Amino acid sequence: MSEQSKLIKTLKQEGITNAKVLAVLGSIPRDAFVLPNFKKVAYANQALSIECAQTISQPYIVALMTQAILKHPHPQKVLEVGTGSGYQAAVLASLFPEVWTIERIPHLYETAKVRLTTLGYDNIHYCLGDGTLGWEEAAPFDAIIVTAAIKEVPPPLINQLAPHGLIVIPLGTPHEVQMLTLIQKQGDTLRTKILAPVAFVPLIANHH
Ligand code: SAM
Repeated sequence: MSEQSKLIKTLKQEGITNAKVLAVLGSIPRDAFVLPNFKKVAYANQALSIECAQTISQPYIVALMTQAILKHPHPQKVLEVGTGSGYQAAVLASLFPEVWTIERIPHLYETAKVRLTTLGYDNIHYCLGDGTLGWEEAAPFDAIIVTAAIKEVPPPLINQLAPHGLIVIPLGTPHEVQMLTLIQKQGDTLRTKILAPVAFVPLIANHH
């Protein structure tokens, strides 16, 4: 059994049930998104360091976040805040018609863009900037995935969410247990569900 097949078996055991998510994580070459010295452990179910003191998220968390937004009946437009290595963007681009992704660190933005383009993804829009402001010109989004932690949901992200849209975001600071939280917009109300305790790098707002 390949390392990637073993990873999918682990994800099923951990409770990932969505067949589309399992198929996509079973086909994307995660080893293309990690640093050369981590290639051997690319299919371990763990977060790994990438350049600029950032991380590529644990496959289980990528699967959990993706599975959560697939609860939307017809998601068309998805925004990711925190491109990082580009792995989560590749997962999203394999499942949704169009993906917008924002990264604040120029080197990661550039590297992920080249990597994803080389791998053949042609339905991703890239932005270098502060993702706490969202992407107003492309809004509204059916789903927003935030892959870095912050105490509260940045208001522009809520404003840029379509009716019945979903946000999945780790809420908390680096020094406390963060809670991966799923939020659904229902009229003027936000329905909130805690998914899991997590440990993400911080979401850094430029305007703070
Ligand atoms: N989704 C990534 C992947 O699949 O590799 C993992 C992202 S890593 C855990 C978090 C990323 O969020 C980092 O690349 C970091 O630079 C970025 N980030 C932090 N604050 C940000 C902000 N305000 N806007 C955009 N990106 C931000």
